[in-house]
Amino acid sequence: MVSRGEMVDARPDLADSLDAAHALFPVKVTRSFWNRMNPADPADPLARQVLHSPEELVVHPEDEADPVGDAAKSPVPWVVHKYADRVLLMMTKRCHLYCRYCFRRNHEPGGLDPTAEEWEAALAYIESARPREVILSGGDPLAVRDDRLFATLDRLAAVSRVLRIHSRAPITFPERITDAFVAELRARQPLYLVVHTNHANELSAEVDQGLARLVDAGIPVLNQAVLLRGVNDDADVLASLFEALLERRVKPYYLHHTDHAAGNAHFRVSLDEGRVLMRQVRERVGGLALPVYVLDPPDGSGKRPIAY
Ligand code: SF4
Repeated sequence: MVSRGEMVDARPDLADSLDAAHALFPVKVTRSFWNRMNPADPADPLARQVLHSPEELVVHPEDEADPVGDAAKSPVPWVVHKYADRVLLMMTKRCHLYCRYCFRRNHEPGGLDPTAEEWEAALAYIESARPREVILSGGDPLAVRDDRLFATLDRLAAVSRVLRIHSRAPITFPERITDAFVAELRARQPLYLVVHTNHANELSAEVDQGLARLVDAGIPVLNQAVLLRGVNDDADVLASLFEALLERRVKPYYLHHTDHAAGNAHFRVSLDEGRVLMRQVRERVGGLALPVYVLDPPDGSGKRPIAY
């Protein structure tokens, strides 16, 4: 991991706002991700995602306390149940690095990990709901220990037909994707892995190796990206990302319209801009490379496609 001191050295202009930004949402980057970015360049698309900005401290009237309406759809802590056949289980609030635009950057007060009682109640809820599919989310579900992750998957497999993991670890912490780890996932199929990549520069040789390991093991890998001002709000950048993912056998799944989390206003792109971009991208890439452009509104009604 990269220390806060190194970040300040890289961008002296950020030093004044570091403590305030860190107090609101931790500033943390993995060494691997750091080595792919130019931390001294404010326009670097990777640095912009993970280095804090003084703009995070500005409050905007459009900010939402709960940008995708999770709280109203949470029957017990660590569970979100928005759709009849799917349940989302948050394993932790920890991540290997923290994306400054994250829609969950303003977690409600409470522990970073569930207590034993909370965890048992969360699993008991899912066992009684018996959804067709369970999605492990967070935080990053790969930020927990293997024994807890695999025990959770095994318990859920007894009540749900399909398991899905949403994790940015294959991109941010590729050393996590070892042969032994992939073999354990392979033993728990049907299991889908949805990674999170926003710019083609995030795809290094090490990342490629981990993604290939997963796909070679028969684990379907998909990608969600977030539309982010100054990172990928450009048709060529988006098309390059989607084509690069497809070359790695990763299906572009969703492009999320940026949620209105407090502190991420400087990343937001308007819906009209997003529609224009997606029309341009559609002209550039084949159907297999084209993700669904979606909005997850704050009323908790769930994701819906944006027409363009
Ligand atoms: S890895 Fe995902 S959950 Fe973690 S900070 Fe980034 S966007 Fe948020």
